[in-house]
Amino acid sequence: VNEEHTPIAEFLKGQVNIATEYRGEIMPSDFDEYKAKEGFTALEKCLNELSADEIISQIEQSGLKGRGGAGFPSAIKWKMVQNAKSDLKYIICNGDEGDPGAFMDRMLLESYPFRIIEGILIGAYAVGATEGRLYIRAEYPLAVKRIKEGLEICKSKGLLGKNILGSDFSFELKVFEGAGAFVCGEETALIASIEGKRGIPQLRPPYPAEKGLWDQPTLINNTETFSLIPYIIRNGAEAFSKIGTEKSKGTKVFALAGKINRGGLIEVPMGITIKQIVEEIGGGIANGKQFKAVQIGGPSGGCIPVSMSDTAIDFDSLKEVGAMMGSGGLIVLDESDCMVDIAHYFLSFTQEESCGRCTFCRIGTQRMLEILQKIKTGKGKLSDLDLLEQLAINTQKGSICGLGRTAPNPVLSTLKYFRHEYEAHINGKCPSGKCEDLIRYE
Ligand code: SF4
Repeated sequence: VNEEHTPIAEFLKGQVNIATEYRGEIMPSDFDEYKAKEGFTALEKCLNELSADEIISQIEQSGLKGRGGAGFPSAIKWKMVQNAKSDLKYIICNGDEGDPGAFMDRMLLESYPFRIIEGILIGAYAVGATEGRLYIRAEYPLAVKRIKEGLEICKSKGLLGKNILGSDFSFELKVFEGAGAFVCGEETALIASIEGKRGIPQLRPPYPAEKGLWDQPTLINNTETFSLIPYIIRNGAEAFSKIGTEKSKGTKVFALAGKINRGGLIEVPMGITIKQIVEEIGGGIANGKQFKAVQIGGPSGGCIPVSMSDTAIDFDSLKEVGAMMGSGGLIVLDESDCMVDIAHYFLSFTQEESCGRCTFCRIGTQRMLEILQKIKTGKGKLSDLDLLEQLAINTQKGSICGLGRTAPNPVLSTLKYFRHEYEAHINGKCPSGKCEDLIRYE
């Protein structure tokens, strides 16, 4: 067997491992293996050689943008917390993840617990935080177990607690288990949830960096963002910034799922195209079917048709085609998928998960779902499409948090690229055949 052409070699070729560095070479809970592969050398470098300003400057020069979805420059957040006037500052790792098809946080937490802890420690040292929380869904028991084990080991090695590695840096880190509300992935709702309140997003400003957990300045970054930090510090900003595109540096982790031959957690350089991911890494569409589209960014993202699969994966290119990076869900769709059904599926998820605070997110999405249901069952009218579009735009504008603002994206992107499928349903035909029974018998 030519090992270069085995399915696993093809799957790994084209990937760049930073968050997933030493993939398959270290046992997740084995501290010595992590240490032997440069583990905690970035933290040691920070404590022994770099000032807080120098660390943040490295993050700035690396061009790192938050991997949780919004793509906000990480260094700006870090500077805000560093400059906040308070004796007590917190740091939170946002490991809340609940979108359909997404398993990036779960796999990073389960597979690289020490790397994430090291990233958080560096962040805490740079911004001056003394306490932190790792917010992980209780539905991820293995992730919770691995992180808790990791924290205990770190404590026993002098990497947590008072005077870490003999320095004057002291830091406590605990796990907080989330109860599974999708909206708690939003920063202010997540903070409310840790405080024991109902997870409802708050209007910003003030931003968590100014007034966050228990009203103190708080740095929140997502799991993937923290897992990139040790590499940047160890190898220098340029090692990271030379990967990717002009405005989107480094790599992005995706949960590659759907109608694909080889799915799984992948880490790719920014700038790779959708087609390269599907064909080269994923090995093409399963069961000999035709590639139709990808849903990128989960329920917050958008559908990109196969005709645009040369689109590069970077923050700007995805925005230009009406999608968004999101946190890393990448669901591949084939010819048997109905795009009206897909839009209905994702919108029903966000509608269910809406906290109900904003009228458009609560009721606008409900009305949109009713229209989609009518169209799916062949009872829609052409004028429903205009109404659907208008409701989607109003929901984007009239919602205070990302959940409501992005919930209409799957509807808008499918309306943009697959309007003919909506019209076909209105004319009593589902092009994929999926809704035929609904159209005939409902
Ligand atoms: Fe709640 Fe939706 Fe408003 Fe967000 S947009 S605060 S989820 S109602």
